[in-house]
Order: sequence, then structure tokens, then C-alpha cells
Amino acid sequence: MHNLRIDAERLWDSLMETARIGATAKGGIRRLTLSEEDKAVRDWFKAACEAIGCTVSWDDMGNMYAVYPGKHPDRLPIAMGSHLDTQPTGGKFDGVLGVLAGLEVLRTLHDAGYEPDTPLMLVNWTNEEGARYQPSMMGSAVYAGALTRERCYDQTDGDGVRFEDALEAIGYKGETPAGPETGAPGFAGMFELHIEQGPILEAEDRTIGVVTGIQGMRWYKVFLTGKENHAGTTPMHLRQDAMVGAARLTLAVNEIARSYEGRAVGTVGRIEIRPGSPNVVPGDVFFTVDFRSPDAAILDAMEAGFREVADAVTAEHGLGIDVQKVSDSPPVTFDGAAIDAVRASADSLGYSHREMLSGAGHDAGYAAYVAPTAMIFVPCKDGLSHNELEDATAAHCAAGANVLLQAVLARANAADAAPDTR
Ligand SMILES: [Zn+2]
Repeated sequence: MHNLRIDAERLWDSLMETARIGATAKGGIRRLTLSEEDKAVRDWFKAACEAIGCTVSWDDMGNMYAVYPGKHPDRLPIAMGSHLDTQPTGGKFDGVLGVLAGLEVLRTLHDAGYEPDTPLMLVNWTNEEGARYQPSMMGSAVYAGALTRERCYDQTDGDGVRFEDALEAIGYKGETPAGPETGAPGFAGMFELHIEQGPILEAEDRTIGVVTGIQGMRWYKVFLTGKENHAGTTPMHLRQDAMVGAARLTLAVNEIARSYEGRAVGTVGRIEIRPGSPNVVPGDVFFTVDFRSPDAAILDAMEAGFREVADAVTAEHGLGIDVQKVSDSPPVTFDGAAIDAVRASADSLGYSHREMLSGAGHDAGYAAYVAPTAMIFVPCKDGLSHNELEDATAAHCAAGANVLLQAVLARANAADAAPDTR
């Protein structure tokens, strides 16, 4: 345990300073990935890291790496980081806190003239939010080998601008391919500090969430086909009403998730009815299903359960059905030693804490493919995020940054730190 502590006021000042880049009238941030605002905050980040002796580079996905030297430059760094892009009406903390707290950790070490055994690395991952270009977490996914860069490059935004062209336009398309085996900086461990984006820590009045994993998520598109007909003249027993099928399947999604209460959630978040006229029996309905659980076996059972109900309901109402699985993110279990480092740091600093799972996806989930990883959560007001009113206290931000500092130093100074054998 080191006596070093971060400067809470300087951390808050940097959060507020960068919040001006893309500031909205309601107090949030609009800083879409690869926009002019994203370029501005990247330039700010690069200058701030270079001012404390970091070497800053970026790869062909625009992921930025600031390496802070350690006593053994031959060792792979311990990484920190998150993302500086936001939702179109995003808040001041989602992602930004994880990057700026990492910067504050490095500034603290720099001020103290402290050299860790292993180098440290601060990462700004590209397009975590997935608001302008889908899918989300693109930069870390390509780095981890879970997505191809070609697929990402060809994505277009609402104005038809390709991802690769936007990346080139802001000057952050590097030459090194993203990935630990391709010349981009590798790392021996990673910690991501983030606001909880949920209500649990605030409700229990705890300061730190020791995040043990990220729940798995599966998305489906469901297309139901019935028969359009006159709503006044078609007897009930002769209808093939796609909306009735969709209503029953929506209830089934809720019931299936409730049967795993506390271990799973299920949502129908979008529905479209055609032709959508008050006096026509609906012929076509499209809806989405979102199933989440930390347990892959439960996700399998939920999917099987949904398909079983779907077969019965469509047979009963004479409907056609097409269920397409459009995404499948497996559950992530973080590394035991990395989780222990977070818990021990919170303990040593005297912060109340609890273990928890992340309900939302994070870059740390892909970092975990590459090296031992864990996350640190701090409370956010009313559990609100992806909202301009998103808020967190300066004290909680500072607590999270101090846990980050201690956890990173514990790993960077561990005797078993991995040599860079590439
Ligand atoms: Zn985030």
C-alpha cells in the first residue's frame, strides 16, 4: 500500500475542462466518435499525457495509447483507460471518468517522481458508445480480435460517412494494426474505472463497486407474419393477428426473465406494426428481444424457452415467424487476482464496497480477452447514464481514482510482472 493519493480537485477540474468540448445546454456532452469534438478532446488528451513524459501513439482504429515509463521497460505495461466519446445527449462521466482518472494517476506519480517497476499505459478506446457507428466498443473489439477492422471501416453514419474516412479526416488513423500481436502496444493487465450506470451503490450508500464480470447479452429480431384483414368484418376465430402473437411473446419474454429473477433480465424494447391502421387486423409485426445474464447456460435456456413459446403461439394463431439472433456477447468473468487488487485497494483506503456485475458492456470486457482485467465502479446520481443529467460527486470520482491508483501500483510492482517476450 502506497501513501500516494490523487489530487481530487485537479481530477474534477480536468473533468469540467474537457466537458466544455461538445458541451450541451442541459449540462451534458455531445461528443460523437470521430467528430470534430472527438478530435479536440483527443488533441487535449495527447498534450496532457505528453506533458508528464508519456509517449503517445495510436493504431489503425484510432485507439490511443499513452505509455508512462517504468524501471523495467522490457515488461508489458499495466493499462488503465476507458473512452472519451459520448452519446448524442451524453453525460460528463460515462467513459470520461475512466480516462481522466487514469491521467490523474499518472500526474500523481509524475509529481511524486515515482517510477513503478512496470510501465503504465493509459488507453482511450475508439467508439465505445456505438451511437454514430455500430456496433459499440469497436476499438477494443478489433484490438481483441472479436471484430474485423474491415467490417468497422465500411460502417456508415446517418450522413453516409464511412468510419475509415471519418477516422482519417480527424487525423487519428494510425499505421499500426490494432491488436496485441500486431505491433500496437500490449499490456499485462487492465483496470477500467467507470460510473455504475445503475442504482445499487447509491441505494446501499457504498463508495466502490468491485466488478467481477460483465453479463452476457443476446439480441434477436423477431418477424411475425399474419393476415391483414378488415377489423370490422373478420370474426375473431378466423383472424391471423400478428399483434396478438407479438403481445403474447412480449409477455413470454418478461415471464422467462422473471423465472430467473436476480440472474437474468429480458426486454422487448422496440416494436413495429404494419400496416398500423386502427381498422386493419395487423399482418406484420417486427420486435426486438434483449436477454441478459451472467450465466451462458441461463441464456441458452432463455433462448430455448422463447423458441418453444413462439412455436406454440404461432401455431395457435396461424402465424409465420422468423427469429434472427443478431448479436451474442458471451458473459465475461474478470481475473481473480485483478479483482482482489481492486478489493484490497478499497479496503486499504477505508472505502465501503461490494462485489457486483456490470449490466452494461464495457471496453474492459474485450481487454479481458487479452490480459487479466477488472473494473471499478463508483455511484452515479439516481443510477442515471446516457443522459445529460448524468451526475457523480467529486468525492466518489476521487475515491474511484485512488482505488485505481492503488490497484494499478499493486499490479505494476508485483514480483510476477510479465516480461515482454514478443
Ligand atoms: Zn462507458
